[in-house]
Formats: sequence, structure tokens, C-alpha cells
Amino acid sequence: MKRDLKRLADERFDLLVIGGGITGACIARDAAMRGLSLALVEKNDFAHATSAHNSKLIHGGLRYLRNFELGLVRESLRERRIWQRIAPHLVHPLPFLIPMYGADWKARAELAAGLTLYDLLAFDRGWVDDPAQRLPGHRWLDARAALEHEPRLDGPKFCGTFEYYDAQMYSPERMALECVLDAVAHDAAVANYVSAERLLLRDGRVEGAMVADCFSDNRFDIRAAVTIIAAGPWADIFLAQALGKPASHKLMRSKGIHLIVPEMTKHAALTVAARGGHFFILPWRGHSLLGTTDTAFAGSPDNVGVTEEDIAALLDFINAHLASAHLSRADVQHFYAGLRPLVDDGSGDTYDASRSAELIDHGKEDSVSGLYSSIGGKWTTSRHLAEQAVDRLVAKLGKPPRACATATTKLPGAPEGAFGAILDSTPAPQQHIARLYGTRAPQMLSLAASNADLRQQLSESGDIAAEVPFAVREEMALTLEDVVMRRTGIGQVGNPGASVLATCAQIMANELGWSEERRASEIAAVEINFKTQGAA
Ligand SMILES: Cc1cc2nc3c(=O)[nH]c(=O)nc-3n(C[C@H](O)[C@H](O)[C@H](O)COP(=O)(O)OP(=O)(O)OC[C@H]3O[C@@H](n4cnc5c(N)ncnc54)[C@H](O)[C@@H]3O)c2cc1C
Repeated sequence: MKRDLKRLADERFDLLVIGGGITGACIARDAAMRGLSLALVEKNDFAHATSAHNSKLIHGGLRYLRNFELGLVRESLRERRIWQRIAPHLVHPLPFLIPMYGADWKARAELAAGLTLYDLLAFDRGWVDDPAQRLPGHRWLDARAALEHEPRLDGPKFCGTFEYYDAQMYSPERMALECVLDAVAHDAAVANYVSAERLLLRDGRVEGAMVADCFSDNRFDIRAAVTIIAAGPWADIFLAQALGKPASHKLMRSKGIHLIVPEMTKHAALTVAARGGHFFILPWRGHSLLGTTDTAFAGSPDNVGVTEEDIAALLDFINAHLASAHLSRADVQHFYAGLRPLVDDGSGDTYDASRSAELIDHGKEDSVSGLYSSIGGKWTTSRHLAEQAVDRLVAKLGKPPRACATATTKLPGAPEGAFGAILDSTPAPQQHIARLYGTRAPQMLSLAASNADLRQQLSESGDIAAEVPFAVREEMALTLEDVVMRRTGIGQVGNPGASVLATCAQIMANELGWSEERRASEIAAVEINFKTQGAA
């Protein structure tokens, strides 16, 4: 997969998608599979923003039941099963424990009722071919049984825990990438590091966008019958700039951070109720992922990052609510921040704001035809949002209706048979590669067959050097950060160290003809990212 900027400039497309997070990636995949000619531009790398910096859950959202958002929970539970089926290498079941303290029978009865409803709304959770993907219903574990599962739960007045199941993504970055790869396999023209600068507006109609290649001064127009903005937390800002007036629909941006620390639980996730909310302790690649926070964010989405104060506050919060945590700054190996793009309901309350999505026709809302925006939503529901968007766009374009196939067509790395059995027969050191690449793993590994240097291991998780040229040649990786933070797991649990970064950068330099200066600046950029995650 290579960028083809000439094609983007020369062709006239049915649809232009601005933004290559999971929303844009799902729209591109769906539209291309239904035969629309499609262009997608992403100003940075695919899934570099919110679509990477989240809790990595494919979940129904148990807590949304409190706000009676039954429709959203049911939609999310249905979509959870769909992701389990179309991406079994990248999505797996995860048990959650909700510890209860003291004899608060009312709280316990309310939670039991909520979990029963959650199970009922997930009535189809057993409709999966792979036995490894079946999710059991909830159950109560008394204190003794719970402590056998997770000794960490001990604490004053601990009386037991509810257990329920949701699903976790092994790599949201690669899941989004596989959606892009599938779009390209269906003839989409796609480019990362191409930024939409302004819309091409003529007589109240949008005819595409003027874009800029981030690696050169090259600016050109992409022409399309319809343009859709899938720019996540940038959506309303881009629109206001493009239209020269405030957008009709506004977003609230809510910052959430996560920390990666040494493994705290044996195998389950913990959902701990806390003052004004909850937090998760999630098992992830031999570590624990702690999150998250929820604070209104007023700055530019380009400047979101993690500060030392953010880290200290989250550690204090967790230590205060989980007696056995005893976390300190020295435990934190890695951190990241993301911005939730939430539809502004005027309440100013980001924690309780709905996570539902909206598709806006700017012909109706702003008297600008040929332009749509997709705002809000969750990772989990992005495929369905794309289905609804493409249904409307196909009608708008006057194309013959074609059924959406994204719920039943597996992603490019998904095996035909049960992935659980494949994983069971894969030796433990190679399971990481099997999960990341699925059926594409042999193609990547073939690069290492004739070159011992490419067989060297570059991370504790099991990444190897051959992933680097594979990412450049087959997956449009153009910067060191693309490789280290998204295509591979090399930097996903913390800085892998100067020598690993130097090895990756040298392989990329050989592939892409980088100068010595470029190689050094790529390493410096990644080092800065590890320190601040891009914060200004
Ligand atoms: C802390 C946190 C935890 C979360 N946890 C979960 C979870 O566990 N499960 C779940 O289902 N959801 C979760 N979410 C929500 C989920 O991550 C988001 O709903 C989803 O990632 C949004 O994807 P997106 O594509 O709309 O936005 P993004 O991923 O932000 O993508 C937008 C893209 O548009 C690009 N762009 C912007 N402007 C331009 C331009 N002018 N030209 C070209 N490209 C442009 C950006 O570079 C960006 O890549 C969480 C969110 C946060 C912040």
C-alpha cells in the first residue's frame, strides 16, 4: 500500500473522507466495498489520535444503563459481537470484576439488576463461530472466591465481586489500519500525511477540498461529488474555518489519560467505583492499563498531552479507592492522552454526556450542499455509524443501492476458521505476531526468512525487525513514530530504548532513503513523544 498523490489529484471521486481515525476508516471501507469511488486523506498517520488513545475496549458500556441509554447499549453490544467475528485476531473476551465493599445491599441489588439487563441486551453474545469468543453472563463471587481470582481486591470491608464480560482490542491502531487496507483492496485512494486545508466551495456547494502534503509544499485539489468530515475532535474547528462561520453542531472535547504500569491483576480487569465516576485496571500485554480521566478540554486538539500533574492526580485517585494499589510515579512506564469528541448537549458535563454519534447533512443545517460531518460516537459503534452514513450517501449520490457487507466480511488479517484454535497451537513467543497480523503474518515473516538481522527481537512482547520494512512497504508507514507506536508493538508499553529506536530508524532510512539528519530528527521526535505524548 503506497500513497498515490497523483491519483488523488487527477481523479474525480464519488466521496472524499477527511480524517483517518476509526470513523473515517470505517466509512472508507464500507463505501469502497459498495463500489463508490473513494478518496481518504489523513493529516497525520491513520489512527494516531483518539482512535489510538482510548481504553481499548469493545464494549456495551455498562454505565450508560444508568442514563437509560438502552438503544446505545444494545447497539454497542451488537457491534461488539460483530467486531469479535470480523477481527478475532485483534479482539478478545475480557472478564471484569466490580468489587463491592460493606453490606450496601441496595447498591448490590441495583448492580445485579443492571448486569442482568446488560446480559439480556446481549442476548446474541453466543452467536459467534469461534468458541474462544463466547462471553459468559455475569455472576457473583463471594470474598473468598474473588480473592482466589484476584488477590489485589482485598481491602477493608471487601465482601465480594460481580464478574461480567466485555471485549478488549489487542491493537486499536492495527484494527483501524486493517479497515484502511480493506478500503484500498476495494480500490480506494488513500493517503496519510495529507491535510485538508480548505473546502472547494462553489455556489453553495462543496466540490472537494484543497489539500497539502505534509512532507512537501505540494498543494492540490481533490474533487468529489460529496465530502464527509470524519475529523474526530477537530471536526467542528475545521468546519468553522472552512465555512468562515461557527459550525451548526459543536463538540465538547473531553480529555482522558491512561497510564501503563507493571501487571497488577492476574487475568481480569477491575472496574472500581470511585467518587463521581469509576476507573479501570485493565490487563494489557503483560502490564496493566489504568484509566481514565474525564476533563473538559478547551485547547487545540493538536496540543493534547499528559502532564506530570495529570499523572499524579490519577495515581492519587486510584490509591485512594483501591487500598492495595500502592502506586507511585516510578511504576509508570508509559502514558497517553486522548480527546473524546462528544456532541455538545449544552450541559457542560462530559462524564454523563451521551456517547451516541450524529451524521450531519450541512445542506440542511448550513445551506452548504455536498457536505456531511460525522461527530461523536465510540470506537465500538464506528462500523455501524459508517453503515448508516454510507446508506445515506449512496442515496444522495443516486447510486444503485447495495447492501452493506462490513458486518459479515472479515478484516484482511482475520482467519476463516476459529482464531482461538490457531492461537492455542502457536508457541507463546509468537502469539504477539499472530495477534497483530493474523493471516498476514506469514507475508511479514517471509521478509525475515532470508535475513537474520530481520529476525532479531525488538520488544519484550515479541516484535521483530522484519515488521519495520513490512510496515514501510505494505502499510504506508512513513515516520519512525508510525512504526514504533502504531504498526508494531515496539513502543506501545513504553520507550524501547535508544538502541532499538536506532535499529528501527536505520531500517527505515534504508527503505525510504532518509538522510542522516532526517534519521536523527525522527528519533528525536519519538523521544519527545514518549516524554509528553505531544503536549505543548
Ligand atoms: C480516554 C478515552 C477512552 C475511550 N475509550 C473507549 C473505549 O474503550 N471503547 C470505545 O468504544 N470508545 C472509546 N473511546 C472513544 C473512541 O476512541 C472514539 O470515539 C473514536 O476513536 C473516535 O474516532 P474518530 O475517527 O472519530 O476520531 P480520531 O481518531 O481522533 O480521528 C480523527 C482524525 O481526523 C484527522 N484530521 C483532523 N483534521 C484533519 C484535516 N484537516 N485533514 C485531514 N485529516 C484530519 C486527525 O488527524 C485524526 O486522525 C474513548 C475515547 C477516549 C478519549
